[in-house]
Amino acid sequence: METSKLKIADWWEPAEKGKILCTLCPRYCKIGEGQPGFCYIRQNHGGKLYTIGYGRPTGFAIDPIEKKPLNHFYPGSSILSFGTAGCNLGCRFCQNWSISKAKLDDFNSLHSSPEDVIELAKRYNAPSIAFTYNDPTIFGEYVIDISKLAREEGIKTVMVTAGYIDKKARKDIYKYIDAANVDLKGFTERFYFKLTFSHLNDILDTLVWLKKGTEVWFEITTLLIPGENDSPDEIKKECEWILNNLGDSVPLHFTAFHPDFKMTDRKHTPEETLNNSRKIALSMGIKYCYVGNIHSHDGQTTYCPNCKTPLIKRDWHSVLTNKMKDGKCYKCGLKIDGVF
Ligand code: SF4
Repeated sequence: METSKLKIADWWEPAEKGKILCTLCPRYCKIGEGQPGFCYIRQNHGGKLYTIGYGRPTGFAIDPIEKKPLNHFYPGSSILSFGTAGCNLGCRFCQNWSISKAKLDDFNSLHSSPEDVIELAKRYNAPSIAFTYNDPTIFGEYVIDISKLAREEGIKTVMVTAGYIDKKARKDIYKYIDAANVDLKGFTERFYFKLTFSHLNDILDTLVWLKKGTEVWFEITTLLIPGENDSPDEIKKECEWILNNLGDSVPLHFTAFHPDFKMTDRKHTPEETLNNSRKIALSMGIKYCYVGNIHSHDGQTTYCPNCKTPLIKRDWHSVLTNKMKDGKCYKCGLKIDGVF
């Protein structure tokens, strides 16, 4: 491969017999000469690790920020969104697999410098940029260069991620990040190992670090898959862990699964499962809980946790009304958690 135009990666070290140990995520791939790691876009050429996804988005979109989903970070705003090919997880139920499982050659990948991405956000008046669609952990160098420039320009940046990332690398990658949505894909190691090829404890560790070690605003999403991670008992355990380790102010989104990729033998998540899971979370003390990928006025409304007044009404990804006043409940004056 012609490497003169490729960017040498961060977070790796030489290993035995010309191999490279990639230290970006807890998979710690040992990559032989000419080979890619599990995520495909980090490759060993001539004893150096290259990040071949750098500057190679698979396409851009302007999305509502509610689509990430983020309900407490500049609600109703638009966000320039993109990802690259590849992924460091192997979710059998991937809802975005045409991108995450793609090799760059499968796409007419664009060439976009960090400056180009900032220009695009400005051109479309997007106050934020999301690294999304596949897991941005694997193109961390690109994330850093864009988010640094964005901060200088007053543009916010958002990671939409599974949180499967090495402790040292995450400190570097999140340095200029303003917000994140982290998938907590289930609450058993069985689920994580069997269906995502990753490990629950690594994700929990990232969530605790985000809460206690950073200023990043983050929300959590759990895609409920019938028969796999949707039992009331598992939902209770997840909520209990969130309350004990992250507190009651991290918004939690339960979203509906549709049969896809290698999991087409399951049905769509019933609305009842989503609504019941939300009820459990709220009854246990989680202040903000939402349902997604279905229409639900009640399940998509932000209520004041104190006086229960509806503050932001939504339908799917659209904000219908926003009665917040300076980040507070217009009625009782309670400060609502988030960035408004
Ligand atoms: S980032 Fe990619 S190459 Fe590096 S350890 Fe993770 S999956 Fe392997």
